[in-house]
Order: sequence, then C-alpha cells, then structure tokens
Amino acid sequence: MNALKTSGFGLTDVGRRRDSNEDEFRLVEELGLFAVADGMGGHAAGEVASRLAMDTVVETIRKAGPATIDALQATELVRRAIDEANRRICESIQDNEDQRGMGTTIAALLRVGDQAIIGHVGDSRVYLLRDGGLQRLTSDHSWVNEQVKLGLLSEEAAQRHPMRNIVTRALGSRNDVLVDVAIEKILPGDLFVVCSDGLNTMLEDDEIRDTLLENGASPEQACQALVEAANDRGGEDNVTVVVVAAQ
Ligand code: CA
Repeated sequence: MNALKTSGFGLTDVGRRRDSNEDEFRLVEELGLFAVADGMGGHAAGEVASRLAMDTVVETIRKAGPATIDALQATELVRRAIDEANRRICESIQDNEDQRGMGTTIAALLRVGDQAIIGHVGDSRVYLLRDGGLQRLTSDHSWVNEQVKLGLLSEEAAQRHPMRNIVTRALGSRNDVLVDVAIEKILPGDLFVVCSDGLNTMLEDDEIRDTLLENGASPEQACQALVEAANDRGGEDNVTVVVVAAQ
C-alpha cells in the first residue's frame, strides 16, 4: 500500500572555534525518527540537556510504537515527546545546582507512512528540498526572527546580527513549553534536512540548496558536504546535519 522509502544519514562536528560539541542527533530508522538538539548553558550542562532531550524523545516515541498510529495521533505524540523532554530537563536542573541555565533546542521529524510530522522548539531547523527549491518547514524561535517577522530586520541583516544566537524558546527554561508542530506530505525525491544553527548561520539558504543539489544523491555525501562548507566558512559553532531522502 505504501511504497515510499526513506533513508537517512547524520553527522555532527565541533566546528573550528569551539572546544566541545553540545549538539546531539538521533537517527532511528525503524521508528522513522530523525532529530537534532543544540544544547546551551556552558560546556558540561549543554551536553547534558541535548542528550537528555534526544534520549527522552526516542524513548517516548519507541514506547508509543508510531507504526500503528495515524498522522494526527503522531503530531500529538511528537508534542508529548518534546514536552516530556522539557519536563525531564527542568527536573534535572532542579536537582543539580550546576545545571542552572542549561537548555536545548530541538527539531524532530517523525515519519508516519507518507507524512512527515515536524516538531520544534528554538532555532534548530527543518528544511525541505523539493523540485530544486529549498523551503524552511520551521520558523525559528529566536530574537532575530521575531524582528524579521515584525518587519524590523531583513533576512540578510538577521543572518549577520550579533544577537542571532539568542533563542526566545528552549527546553529547560520553564515547566510548560509551547511546541510548534506541522505535517508535510512526503513525495518521492524529497530531501529533508534537520540541522542546528551552526549550519544556517554559516551558510545562506541558497548555498544550502546548491550544496544539496550537488550532493543530494547520497544523504551521507550531502551531510559531509554541508558540514565541510560550514567549517570552510569559519565553523564558528558546532554543526549538526541529518539528511533524509525519500524514494
Ligand atoms: Ca548552536
């Protein structure tokens, strides 16, 4: 009934300027789950937050067994999984004084049949390359994006703005987090990219698109090319890329 196939690859890199990597990703093919988290709050704590987020999301979705549910139930599952991740991070902060201020972004894609369920909090992104065009499926919860939406800042200015790293929503800052969830129908030939801001602050969307067009035949090659391009541009941040191809 459903002949659509997906295959994915993920890569994370410390970049050229940082001495630790607070990004995490998970790629669980049998669950159709592809996710990225970008931790913050300083070295050890940032790593704890992103790992806790990824582990909790995988565990929650595994327990629910997404193969048996429809797209609408799946959006609720993604929301619940990210909610649960937030709850556990907040709990961990309460129990550990040295984790105060830690948090993480999250961007997750759950494939259910021929639907992609996309959930996110913060400025990690999901892109879709379809028919040669690149579109963003997420809208950053960041200070600069709020200014762009208000018409106070151009996309170009936002890309270079000194406050571009300020997120306005993250896991770990309050007990109830608002999760943005969307559904996208998957078509054969689609290429999805889940990434941390270490990719899209170093590269313009057009450059991400061109790199995908040149290397998209293989998710592994596409990941390597994107990470390399971000590092060539300066590699100012940890960079994480998960590429999912649909056939
Ligand atoms: Ca980052």
